[in-house]
Amino acid sequence: MSTIADNISLVSSRIHAATLAANRAENSVQLLAVSKTKPAQALREAHAAGLRDFGENYLQEALGKQLELADLPLIWHFIGPIQSNKTRAIAEHFDWVHSVDRLKIAQRLSEQRPADLPPLNICIQVNVSGEASKSGCTPADLPALANAISALPRLKLRGLMAIPEPTEDRAAQDAAFAAVQNLQASLNLPLDTLSMGMSHDLESAIAQGATCVRIGTALFGARDYDRP
Ligand SMILES: *Cc1c(COP(=O)(O)O)cnc(C)c1O
Repeated sequence: MSTIADNISLVSSRIHAATLAANRAENSVQLLAVSKTKPAQALREAHAAGLRDFGENYLQEALGKQLELADLPLIWHFIGPIQSNKTRAIAEHFDWVHSVDRLKIAQRLSEQRPADLPPLNICIQVNVSGEASKSGCTPADLPALANAISALPRLKLRGLMAIPEPTEDRAAQDAAFAAVQNLQASLNLPLDTLSMGMSHDLESAIAQGATCVRIGTALFGARDYDRP
């Protein structure tokens, strides 16, 4: 059986190869380990093997792991859908939020970000797959949302996040990720993060400019959604 450390080296090699193939600078793509449904021990192993950034989708589950892993200097990213009543805990306990798709949520995160913490890093989730996905702002709504979020005092808008419709067709993957990159470029804001690419499509995402790939299955194995 492969260990998490083995999986990390395999994924790191894939990222490295894709970065070189795209003529991009080495280390220009960050590996965000998506640890939803996985026990704290798995994150501890991943940290021992060199990872520091972890993405979680479910608030209560994430807060539990943060307590268990409080002895480690981890960077926490919230990447799941956000309900209004969860914004305070997210603002208090995370370093990044990748899944902001409406202004009301951003305003609450800004108001609730504790004064003794640095501004909360934000990516706007954009929906480039139309009706195939319910989450994410529409490309039409993106410019106004990005400008409004940039003006919020306790947030730092870093870039865009997308989860295109899953497909094994490389041309379709490339088209979706290129659309995200073009949207980012069209904003004319000083953004440095494109959060896109998962276990099955990280090569395409990196070819289209991803700076952060969010990888779960390829690091930790398949998820069992029956777990709480
Ligand atoms: C679960 C999840 C991932 C990881 O997906 P894998 O296919 O397991 O790599 C990435 N991003 C988001 C937003 C997720 O919810």
